[in-house]
Amino acid sequence: MTKTVKITNPDKVLWPSLDITKRRYVDYLDAVGERMLPWLRDRPLSLVRAPDGVTGERYYQKDTPKYAPSWIRTVTIPAARRDVAYTVCNDAETLAWLGNQAALEFHPAPVRRDKLERPDQLTVDIDPPDDAFEAAVEVARLVLEVTDDLGLRTLLKTSGGKGLHIVMPIRRGVSSDELRRAANRLTEIVQERRPDLVTAEFRKADRGGKVMLDPSRNHAGATVVAPYSPRARDEATVSFPVVPAELGRMDPSAFTIETVPKLLDRKGPRAWSEAEREASQRIPRALLP
Ligand code: ATP
Ligand code: MN
Repeated sequence: MTKTVKITNPDKVLWPSLDITKRRYVDYLDAVGERMLPWLRDRPLSLVRAPDGVTGERYYQKDTPKYAPSWIRTVTIPAARRDVAYTVCNDAETLAWLGNQAALEFHPAPVRRDKLERPDQLTVDIDPPDDAFEAAVEVARLVLEVTDDLGLRTLLKTSGGKGLHIVMPIRRGVSSDELRRAANRLTEIVQERRPDLVTAEFRKADRGGKVMLDPSRNHAGATVVAPYSPRARDEATVSFPVVPAELGRMDPSAFTIETVPKLLDRKGPRAWSEAEREASQRIPRALLP
């Protein structure tokens, strides 16, 4: 089947602050595709769409629109009210088609289509208080100490927003509930080490200026923004892979649609690509008593 993607309204401006048009955005997706697609492959995808750019209306889209071309793959998951046909993005053409749809953020689930009940990623979502990225860095170092002690291999990225994500690919075997329990336990261990720095308090007002570790992203129906996904924010920032040695030395606002295509050979992107080829790891016993 020929998959043709015609870019409609190529001059429409999606990020006005950097004058990024739809044409440039689709070019960006093409440039990062090779690094990004493995992290989308076979996963139900939620999207943030912004047809009029980041200054216009934005909405989460889970269900694939009826007008999608027949070659766009989907995976249907039963939901409370009706089934949802999530888009699955396995190739450059689908990425371009989604770009043309002004899908500005890509949020894959931690499960793959052939085993929707068996997650394969554990993520620590590090949410600092406003304008305190250094606090996120400090907590990331702490989380990495704990995961190192547990013998877990980790991947690190900026969120493209305020914080950081630590992602652990895991062997499929545990249930969604077990993943949640393991994430809760990991968060607890980190919090026990530095209760002055870390909170699991959901309500912002109750966090007392501490960094929030949100374990709730760890279940089959959750999502975390994909590496290389832009954010539908004014500054066109991107969720970008980094390595621990860069913590404290990098500025997450420097990773944008403009800069990232030139940074794909850095250590972070290389580490994420290498991880695709590594044997998967089990969740350690200590997290699943
Ligand atoms: P930041 O660093 O600014 O926190 P983030 O991407 O980590 O950026 P969070 O609000 O911490 O944003 O959410 C973590 C993840 O949970 C997101 O990347 C997204 O995939 C998912 N998420 C957040 N809010 C929603 C929502 N309203 N609906 C669906 N998924 C969401
Ligand atoms: Mn977050």
